[in-house]
Amino acid sequence: MKITRVEVRVLKVNLPAGHIPCRPIVCRIFTDEGLYGDGEAAMLLMTGASASYGMLQDLAQFILNMDPLDHELIWNKLYRKTYFAQNGGPTMYSAISAIDVALWDIKGKYFNVPVYKLLGGKQRDTVRCYASQINSGWGRFVGRPKTPEEFAECAREAVREGYDTVKADFFIINEEGKLFTAEDRTGLGLPCDLRLVESRIAAVREAIGPDRDLIVEGHGYTDASVGLQLGERLAQYGVLYYEEPCTPFLPTATLLAQKLKTPIAGGERLFSRWQFYPYMAAHAYHVFQPDVGDCGGITEIKKIIDMADLFELPVQIHTCSTPLLVGATLNVEAAMNRFSIHEHTGFQTRDFIRELGKYDWQPENGHMTIPDLPGIGNELSDYALQHYESLSVIQ
Ligand code: MG
Repeated sequence: MKITRVEVRVLKVNLPAGHIPCRPIVCRIFTDEGLYGDGEAAMLLMTGASASYGMLQDLAQFILNMDPLDHELIWNKLYRKTYFAQNGGPTMYSAISAIDVALWDIKGKYFNVPVYKLLGGKQRDTVRCYASQINSGWGRFVGRPKTPEEFAECAREAVREGYDTVKADFFIINEEGKLFTAEDRTGLGLPCDLRLVESRIAAVREAIGPDRDLIVEGHGYTDASVGLQLGERLAQYGVLYYEEPCTPFLPTATLLAQKLKTPIAGGERLFSRWQFYPYMAAHAYHVFQPDVGDCGGITEIKKIIDMADLFELPVQIHTCSTPLLVGATLNVEAAMNRFSIHEHTGFQTRDFIRELGKYDWQPENGHMTIPDLPGIGNELSDYALQHYESLSVIQ
């Protein structure tokens, strides 16, 4: 079997008014045997999606005429023959990931099995999910909550849907709805801001009760100093983990992991096994969060997860994507050691993202069922194939 053509698209989404820009970058790899596979570069909400689109077009040239089943050969070629894959960043690795995911999709279809079977078999039929980023609203609560009570209402919406875990970044907007600035969240935090953030956390803890889990997201917006101030305040609320309280920089991440009582999570901004290794060896995070769509694909996340297994560290696969990568992520989660919890992000429950996938995998009662379809468990919908900003064909 040979790769004959690669289509790379920037999808056009039906964005609701006021939503931040969303530009999914996807590829479809075609073969001479009629099989095709879909992949995605996990950059849809990020600055730099255009760069991933360009990089995917460049990388697609390297794989023409290769056997799509040779995923290690192809991965190594992309790594070795492109100068900046070594120690590369999100542009390079999201593009490698998109290609790699599409190859695994083809492989699953070729052998007529779900990807989890190729990864060694299904260890679980369903996965426990958390409602991620309730700070952007949840369920019937549309828009960003501002007051502690509004945060609590978003959490109650998620609990009503059956989730037993919620996550929020409580430090994005102030009580008037104005964005906090970089200056507000670095250096030394003002007592009034820290008190507001803490009161929101307290309200959500109160709303969900003691038997549900609460994750606090930092997005790396705070630095180590404010991360420490906030981390000390949130210790009393039984937080499952505190995600990215500072820039992913090994010395500061390690310092916070050692100083704070709450476990620290991170990894969505680390790429490839080489970048994960020092963080794992230093126990800089307690929970690791590689993303199938930007750490190097299924081939690479398998190696990262196996390394976490060695260090006995839980993995929560990061996800911020269209339904394509939801399918791929569920397949990896089905087969992995050190599984902790599945992330389901608020916008993945909204129609403008759901309509991009042929299949719509959503949690029921806080749990997702692992898809049993050949391949990654999803593909681009007809809608997605027909609505795009740009299309590039490499053949
Ligand atoms: Mg995050």
